[in-house]
Amino acid sequence: MKISEKGQALLAKYKKIQKLYILLLALAAMSLVFLHNFVLMVALAVFAFVFEAKAYICPHCKKTVDCKRRIKEDSCCLHCQKYIFKNLD
Ligand SMILES: [Zn+2]
Repeated sequence: MKISEKGQALLAKYKKIQKLYILLLALAAMSLVFLHNFVLMVALAVFAFVFEAKAYICPHCKKTVDCKRRIKEDSCCLHCQKYIFKNLD
């Protein structure tokens, strides 16, 4: 089953979020390794986790989606069991 344009856009957005999340964690690691700044590392890591937790919203039930697992075209929402990127009118 092909996913719609809307689904494609959402998938692209989620992948961008994933990259940003990894970037934030990399920055957190770097701030400890290069700047020896533990507080900055914790702040960046916390920000990354909060950002990630809030960024993924199921388009069907509007609840946050756990995207710790790999995001795929056929990923399902744990709350409403629907395909996240499919059947988006
Ligand atoms: Zn849902």
